Parts: sequence; C-alpha cells; structure tokens
Amino acid sequence: MMAAMIDLRSDTVTKPTAEMRAAIAGAEVGDDVYGEDPTVNRLERLSAEMLGKESALFLPTGTQANLVAVMTHCRRGDEFIVGRAAHVFHYEAGGAAALGSAHPHPLDFAPDGTLDLDEVAAAIRPTSDHFDPLLSHFAPTRLLCLENTQDGKVVPLDYLAEARSLATARGLAVHLDGARLFNAAAALGVAPAEIAKHADTVSFCLSKGLGAPAGSMLCGPSEQLHVAHHHRKILGGGMRQVGVLAAAGCYALEHNLDRLADDHRNAERLALGLDALDGFAVDMPGVQTNMVFLRLTREDPADFAKFMAERGIAILVEGPVIRLVTHLDVTAQDVERVIASAEEFVS
Ligand SMILES: *Cc1c(COP(=O)(O)O)cnc(C)c1O
Repeated sequence: MMAAMIDLRSDTVTKPTAEMRAAIAGAEVGDDVYGEDPTVNRLERLSAEMLGKESALFLPTGTQANLVAVMTHCRRGDEFIVGRAAHVFHYEAGGAAALGSAHPHPLDFAPDGTLDLDEVAAAIRPTSDHFDPLLSHFAPTRLLCLENTQDGKVVPLDYLAEARSLATARGLAVHLDGARLFNAAAALGVAPAEIAKHADTVSFCLSKGLGAPAGSMLCGPSEQLHVAHHHRKILGGGMRQVGVLAAAGCYALEHNLDRLADDHRNAERLALGLDALDGFAVDMPGVQTNMVFLRLTREDPADFAKFMAERGIAILVEGPVIRLVTHLDVTAQDVERVIASAEEFVS
C-alpha cells in the first residue's frame, strides 16, 4: 500500500477529524444574521474571552476579517501602514484599496518580522489641528497593521508594546493580523490575550493550524465590532445557519491549542534534519513556530519539488525559496520520511 501523502504546502490543508466532524454534525444552529445561531454566539464569546477583548465576529475568511478591520479603522481615502510582504498588502488581491477605499503605505519588514518604528513614525502623514491648505495634499494616516506570526516568526511582545505606544501617541489604531496568533502564543508560552492586548483589533484563522475547515475571527472593542459587523454585511459575509462551521471553530479552540507545540517541535526537527544535509540552506533563525524556509545551494527547487511529489510529499516553491509548514496532519514519523527523501535527492 502507498504511504499516505504528506502535504507541507500549508497548514490550511488540514482536514477535520472524526471528532470535529461529530461536533459539526451535532451543532445547534439558527439564523446568524438575526443573531440567533447559538453556536456562532458561543464561538464569538469564547474568542473574545481568549483574546481579552469585549467582542468578536465570525467571518468566512481571514482575508475578509482583515478587510473588515481596515474598513472599520479607515474612512474613504485614509491611509494605513503595512508590511510590503504582509498578507494584507501582498496576498489579499488589493481588497483594502479595491473595496475598502483605503490607501496602503507599505514598508519593508525587518528580518525579524517587525516594521522599524522610526520608519513607521516617518511614514505617518503630517496633520494639523488648525486649517493648513498644504496639508490637504496628504492622505490622513489612521492605522498601523502588524502581523504575528510573520512568515512563522514570532513578533516580540516588547516590540508590540512599543509599536502600540507610538501608534497611540500619533492617533493611529493598531490592527494585528494574527492569522497564526495561537502559534505565536504557544511559542512564547503566554496566553493569546498577552499578545492581543497590544492591538485594538485582532484577526485570527480557525482554518489553519487549528484544523477547522473554514472561518476566521475578528476581535476588539464592542463599538468597533458593531461597525465591523456592518462591513461584514456589505462584503456579503452575513451567513445564516453557520453554526455548523462555528462548531468546528469551538472544537478547535477547545481541543487543538495544546498540540501546536508538536507542530513547532516537528518544524524544528525538520529544519535541523534538512540543514544538516549538503545542498540545503535552512533559515534557522526563522524557525520559531510551524514554518521552515530554505534554499537549495546547487539544485533547482522545481526539480526537488518534483522528486518529493513522486514520493508523496507536497512542498511549496516560491521562486528560489521553499516553504514547508507543519500541522496536525503531519506526524513526527512523516518528518523523518521527508528528511530521508531529501537525503536521497542530494545523494
Ligand atoms: C492565511 C492568512 C490570512 C487569511 O487567509 P484566508 O485564506 O483568507 O483565511 C491572513 N493573514 C495571514 C498572515 C495569513 O497567513
């Protein structure tokens, strides 16, 4: 019998387990547009509590959660500061501009996944309390968007605190794209609220390492979440008996957090195993959660991907860079199989 496929392309590929499917099958539901889905209400309460925020909103995707957040903080023509390689800027089809009428101001991430705060301060457009005709040139800066984890890297808590003070001092809100916030919390050994407290609004994905088939949450103050709720409706994200999906989210938050440490251990073992092979250069300092980035020093990464695919191992190649992601459908034995196949490739 062929061994099962090992899919390292992303943690989005996880499939609901039998237990999660049972939770889905048994979910109590109602019309969530009327606020009557008890399972959605439970998921929103649970998420808000875990992040230490007043309210939470269930959305179909992280992309929509981020767009709703940008629309909540920025009015038409307002500017937001964001990483050039951030999901919000690079991977969301320009939605903040296309649909949110907000103007992005991208800055390069430092290698540790932070935005340099001097650069952020310099990027904030000048404003004035009194009328100054020359200042009408500028799009008012309203929002700083950060990401944690950023390409698998954990953004330090003291950095988040400093970024928040700068933003507050300059009248900006902070939105944290915490698609993998729980990975960051697990790596730091802190409660997710310890990270979330440094942002006004925080989004996170249920559909990645937490193992749910779909769904993301946006958490923040009730007043802003009321506005966000309206934007979700504008974007077509008002769903009906969606407790069937929320049940998977509740299950994920109640059962799949402790095991994230296994993914991190597997990623570390994978990184060390590959880095020890001649011809592989792993970004070791970047291996902090469930992602491994590497390059091949001699061979073509496309040839490597093909070789691995023939052995039932799927990997993601982006130009010269290979990304491997561990998740709940990748076991410690799978990691050994991947390392053995990589060794076979270079030998
Ligand atoms: C996956 C991801 C999102 C949201 O993606 P969806 O596929 O729309 O759920 C947002 N930000 C980051 C950093 C992500 O990795």
